[in-house]
Amino acid sequence: MNPTIQFSDFGLHADVLRALSEQGYTTPTPIQAQAIPVVLMGRDVMGAAQTGTGKTAGFALPIIQKLLPLASTSTSPARHPVRALILTPTRELADQVAENVASYSRHTALRSTVVFGGMDMAPQTAALRAGVEILIATPGRLLDHVQQKTLNLSQTQILVLDEADRMLDMGFLPDLQRIINLLPKQRQNLMFSATFSTEIKRLAQSFMQDPALIEVARRNATADNVSQIVYAVPSESKRAAVAFIIRQRNLKQVLVFSNTKIGTSRLARELQREGIKADAIHGDKSQKERMVALEAFKRGEVEVLVATDVAARGLDIVELPCVINYDLPHSPEDYVHRIGRTGRAGASGDAISLMAREEERYLQDIEKLTKTPIVRKDLEGFDPERVRHRERSAREPSAERGRAEPVQRRPSERTVAPVDEWFMKPYQPQDDAAASVKVQPQQAQPGLARAAEKRPAVAALLGGKRAKTETA
Ligand code: AMP
Repeated sequence: MNPTIQFSDFGLHADVLRALSEQGYTTPTPIQAQAIPVVLMGRDVMGAAQTGTGKTAGFALPIIQKLLPLASTSTSPARHPVRALILTPTRELADQVAENVASYSRHTALRSTVVFGGMDMAPQTAALRAGVEILIATPGRLLDHVQQKTLNLSQTQILVLDEADRMLDMGFLPDLQRIINLLPKQRQNLMFSATFSTEIKRLAQSFMQDPALIEVARRNATADNVSQIVYAVPSESKRAAVAFIIRQRNLKQVLVFSNTKIGTSRLARELQREGIKADAIHGDKSQKERMVALEAFKRGEVEVLVATDVAARGLDIVELPCVINYDLPHSPEDYVHRIGRTGRAGASGDAISLMAREEERYLQDIEKLTKTPIVRKDLEGFDPERVRHRERSAREPSAERGRAEPVQRRPSERTVAPVDEWFMKPYQPQDDAAASVKVQPQQAQPGLARAAEKRPAVAALLGGKRAKTETA
């Protein structure tokens, strides 16, 4: 790839370029450099890329460019049919994609809107009735609107499936098939997925025409710039250990993963009790609660966001200085996803895991997948006995209660909440070779090493060249 490539090299309209420079984007990311020209050409695209690579602009910019000749300032809904449909698995991702599309198209007459579940349908219906060219939606709510006849997809010429693997994980396949059947046969299809399961390949083969395959290596989640540490901590002391680590390292923006919804809530509550600005997001929280927590986290008002794997998916929080695994995930792929949230270009990131004795086997699975031994350490200075003693006295009503300062508390450090500036920055191109665009699938994402081992060339599996092993 030519590293000096500019957005203007793609022939994008001045109004789009203006929006990009207002966003502060200077150079295209690797996936953008690769995808934009191919989408502009009208080809179907199968992109192996995940959130954080800049994939949204990779499909949104050429879509906007292609639809520009059809943009109209007319107020008549008939002049604003849905021409591009972008489907995402989660409401959060839908919302983020919609935000991006709106900002890239802000100087054009193109209209866009987002519809997802858990929200009142009336405002969505009003927006759809008024007419939009670009519609971002989660599958279920989209079908609700189809059923209510507030939506007509007969003029859709571009379909995007974003995070297709997550959509399948979440059981959206029947909905996707129903939606695809509602679209005109003649259209351009773009599909983005972080992983390539057999189901994904089957889905791609079922509706894409000779897709161009674009693969961008995720930065190696187990690369040298992410230091991985495992602390042996008994289960009952883990919550105190998380608080201890946050204080000891003076962490101001940390994502803590827990395997269970109840675990996230409990941990967030415990941290709050310790005077740490924490909040939890998980599947049982309302859309509004999740958004509020996420925004507060981005602003630095919440310093510790405790999340389940599912709730953290699709969040536009990509590169953090530190992630903590309150417990080890039972699937080693989840570990790779989790720690991939940290490690900055050129700087270091920390992935800290707390491991109870009974979790040792999960760590072994992770080491097998990543082919990297992970250092096990004792959490120095942390004394579970002292914590237990403190908890006992806290349970007993005492005059001391409420006055007692938690052992490691440093209140002065917790009053200010400076936002980690790096976190607020948009994507920055990285120097490391792993970030470069690859169209050669044999250099697949390291985090997907296992999947890559099993599969022959992606091109073959996706129908470019039919693989013998592929039966679907
Ligand atoms: P995505 O992978 O699409 O979710 O994008 C990840 C983040 O990178 C988002 O915050 C985007 O706003 C930002 N971003 C996307 N493209 C660029 C670019 N070319 N330059 C700078 N930031 C970008």
